Amino acid sequence: MYIADKERYKKMKYNRCGRSGLKLSALSLGLWHNFGSSDSFDNMTDMVTTAFDLGITHFDIANNYGPYPGSAEENFGKIMTRSLAPYRDELIISSKAGYWMWDGPYGEWGSRKYLVSSCDQSLKRTGLEYFDIFYHHRPDPETPLEETAAALDYIVKSGRALYVGISNYGEEATLKISKLLRDMGTPLLIHQQRYNMFERGIENGLQKVWESEGIGSIAFCPLAQGLLTNRYLNGIPADSRAGKSSVFLTADRVNNAPIAKIAALNEIAVDRGMSLAQMALLWDLRGGKMTSVIIGASKPQQITENVAALDAPELTPEELDKIEEILGNEKL
Ligand code: NDP
Repeated sequence: MYIADKERYKKMKYNRCGRSGLKLSALSLGLWHNFGSSDSFDNMTDMVTTAFDLGITHFDIANNYGPYPGSAEENFGKIMTRSLAPYRDELIISSKAGYWMWDGPYGEWGSRKYLVSSCDQSLKRTGLEYFDIFYHHRPDPETPLEETAAALDYIVKSGRALYVGISNYGEEATLKISKLLRDMGTPLLIHQQRYNMFERGIENGLQKVWESEGIGSIAFCPLAQGLLTNRYLNGIPADSRAGKSSVFLTADRVNNAPIAKIAALNEIAVDRGMSLAQMALLWDLRGGKMTSVIIGASKPQQITENVAALDAPELTPEELDKIEEILGNEKL
């Protein structure tokens, strides 16, 4: 039987999520990769319990994570039942709907029909009574934002979720849905957006919206799916995301990545006695602008290494300048 480490809350930092009452662990664990139907159940259990033992309280899922779509939720549900059930009130579990999940006109995007049905399916797959955060996963260009906001509000008011979030929304739509939700009495808790040294779209406006609206912020792909680690400095290892033929990180993409720049960043990390993965996470969290950063992992050791980054001193202005110099205008 799993018993959580008693020291877990001493190992993590917790940041307030926007102007809400909720705090999130500075690092969260995402289940996009390595939690599907053909992945090792023992390994995923180890990853989740290792994360919780290190004070990670937030686990990020979506209806479509797998493959097959839905299998990450099923696997997380099994881990909950077998290991984490006694700790439910210590966990922030999120799911999302927005991308394709089932055939026909109600299986994706942002209608009330899709969002409420998908949330019910996700609750069934995970066996949970409620989600802590339920997200609209991507903006829908056709459904009126008023309908999507009303569906999210209903999901909270009907007891299916405690808070709502959005992901992949631009500035204007974020501002609009935030105002709609506030007027309905369900303030927008959090915005989930891609953010790493090479992908910095949020810096040009979204961060200002989050601050003025009091919305929390959570970054995904902080390690650019593994590119911002020492993983690919000497080719593509067979057990890596690109080596396992992920459609999201192809060998082509790795081969076209600015490996010399990544190697130069790695040198700064080594000089300060840490790994590039650790430095990339510190960089994402710098200045306290992000509430949390969602890491992915393929083994528990990566999670242990990544959480240890939080014990390191903050990046100095000189180190930050050096990083900017190396990056130049490089985008992935
Ligand atoms: P990362 O950028 O953190 O990449 C994770 C990968 O980096 C791991 O699978 C592993 O690759 C490698 N890695 C992690 N730690 C280390 C380490 N210490 N040393 C070497 N390599 C390391 O995040 P993800 O791309 O996995 O995304 C994280 C989460 O964000 C997802 O699970 C999901 O919850 C969320 N997300 C949300 C999206 C949205 O639209 N809202 C879109 C995408 C993600 P390897 O497997 O090769 O070992």
